[in-house]
Amino acid sequence: MAQVEVIQLSKSFGSIDIIRDLNLTVNDGEFVVLVGPSGCGKTTLLRMIAGLEATSGGEIRIGGRDVTKLSPKNRDIAMVFQSYALYPHMTASENMGFSLKLAKVPQAQIDEQVKRAAKMLRIEHLLDRKPRELSGGQRQRVAMGRAMVRNPAVYLFDEPLSNLDAQLRTSMRAEIKRMHLEERQTVIYVTHDQIEAMTLADRIVAMRSGRIEQIGTPDELYNYPVSTFVASFIGSPEMNLLPAVLRDGQIMVESGPNFALPAAFAHLKDENGRRVLLGIRPEAFHVAPRSMEAPAFAITASLIEPCGAEVYVIGELGDREVTIRLQPGTEPGRGETTQFYADLKALHLFDAETERSLR
Ligand code: ATP
Repeated sequence: MAQVEVIQLSKSFGSIDIIRDLNLTVNDGEFVVLVGPSGCGKTTLLRMIAGLEATSGGEIRIGGRDVTKLSPKNRDIAMVFQSYALYPHMTASENMGFSLKLAKVPQAQIDEQVKRAAKMLRIEHLLDRKPRELSGGQRQRVAMGRAMVRNPAVYLFDEPLSNLDAQLRTSMRAEIKRMHLEERQTVIYVTHDQIEAMTLADRIVAMRSGRIEQIGTPDELYNYPVSTFVASFIGSPEMNLLPAVLRDGQIMVESGPNFALPAAFAHLKDENGRRVLLGIRPEAFHVAPRSMEAPAFAITASLIEPCGAEVYVIGELGDREVTIRLQPGTEPGRGETTQFYADLKALHLFDAETERSLR
């Protein structure tokens, strides 16, 4: 069992609290991704789990064992860094086997484990090369191989793909996913990349100022964000948030239409004058057919961004900017005002003051 439990964990640097009373359980075999704005404490949390950073309070348990005070090598974890951190004077094979050598594992067994990892990572032909003779992607594979040969209970990844170019990132992402599906290790993975988070995670942990704002499956965070913070953070381009007021069972959008509260928000029908933010994802806007009588948003396109398989229209609704995602060929011309309707099932409502979801 390689469950990771973080219990009432806190961390301060001097007088500054970075992590506060954080609780998180990562199940055996689960792939959990930590996301959040720069400085929210993702790396600090990962380093505490690894044992590279002391805790200021709380407990960390791996496989049911309290490891809070144990050194990294006694935690049965392996960490893969953004910087690879390979030894320049050693070959790929020596880098991968180094920790086993330190642990006095017989050479024949080291060779076997290095070979097995190299096969999985498709770097068997590169084992005799030094890091400077490898590309960035190949170095990252060696760094992953070094973690794999130890067959740890838990893998910790700190933005492992962020130094790679876009194409390599995509292929390495798919490989990490494939390996996890095959081996089912417990993984905690920090990234800034939306797509990595959405595609790799069994569950995403959205962090904000050293706390957990929401934990859930990628689908839950995307479709049911608990706050405007999560709503804006997950999804690219981000969700549009339009100021509106509730009145007589209606949502009255500033510079936009009035329409009846969708069924999911029927419990708000008697709220009069409550200020809200109406959340509409870029793909939830559709060009309204001429015959359509439903209330529409009159949006003036100010910028068109073609992105191959889709096109983003940046438009104005009154003095608000909105982003709409459309199929290429269906977009309006620049400067044109077009009527759009919003998919009522895909609407989000947040309280304007607390910014919490009203669902
Ligand atoms: P990023 O996404 O930019 O990597 P992060 O969410 O991983 O950010 P951390 O690196 O965990 O954030 O840092 C959290 C906060 O702790 C930051 O404000 C950072 O400046 C601070 N911090 C991190 N390490 C130290 C340290 N050794 N001494 C003092 N402050 C630190």
